[in-house]
Amino acid sequence: MAKEIIIADHAGFCFGVKRAVEIAVNQQTSDQSNTYTLGPLIHNNDVINRLKEQNILPITEAQLGELGSKDSIVIRSHGVAPDIWEQIEKTGAQLVDATCPYVSSIQKKVRKYRDLGYQIIIVGDAKHPEVIGINGWCDNSAIITKDGSNLGELPSKVCIVSQTTERLANYDKVVEIVSRRCEDVQTFNTICKATSDRQSSADEVSKKVDLMIVIGGKNSSNSKKLYDICSKNCKNSIFIENSKELSADIFHENKIEKVGITAGASTPDWVIEDVVKKSREFLAI
Ligand code: SF4
Repeated sequence: MAKEIIIADHAGFCFGVKRAVEIAVNQQTSDQSNTYTLGPLIHNNDVINRLKEQNILPITEAQLGELGSKDSIVIRSHGVAPDIWEQIEKTGAQLVDATCPYVSSIQKKVRKYRDLGYQIIIVGDAKHPEVIGINGWCDNSAIITKDGSNLGELPSKVCIVSQTTERLANYDKVVEIVSRRCEDVQTFNTICKATSDRQSSADEVSKKVDLMIVIGGKNSSNSKKLYDICSKNCKNSIFIENSKELSADIFHENKIEKVGITAGASTPDWVIEDVVKKSREFLAI
């Protein structure tokens, strides 16, 4: 069998993350103010370190009160709840919105349907910043569920949205359960195409290779989901943040010939290229 590296068709930076990084960098270069991001701009330490070198520094919600009129603060692609906007406005700092337009659209939907009297259900991870932000747009009244097991009593009017990185199977399951129980169910599959494209490409490639490498930040939920998908198809699936974590042992111990590579939406091209280069060295091709 010829040695080969297959890179997933859809891998790495998505539109929303690329846009957020560009917005932050433009802000820093075009404005004299100090530029901060509310939380790490993306789940990737290599990118965060590069941004720090350019004086774009992450701060926490608790530090918002320290901002002043000479500062600007970038809202990352995950978006935030309206009360955070209000807190920032009070500081006098310039608010630079890099919320992904797909996330903004979910925020508007939940507000609209909350105002129309619907109970909002978000299919996703209750601790994820995107979900926390979306919930803020319906006054934190949403039911957040992964699989429909914690829905409790439901009114007759329900509106279902999903976290942009949620798996379709989970969303479908919740829609099915709620549709059996409620009269008026408005459903919005808000899973981002960037996510589903990455998931189907990873699924396809991991079926063809004997080592599957998933590159992503350790806190990146979309990267972890890619790893879960790949592990089901390929027993030699590994999850790394960058090429430094790639060792020759796994190549040699398992006599690897075909390598698949995919990367989460917060992984920049240069990190993927480094992993491809190192894999070539270990495969001796
Ligand atoms: S995964 Fe989709 S929704 Fe999330 S930032 Fe990227 S493009 Fe936007």
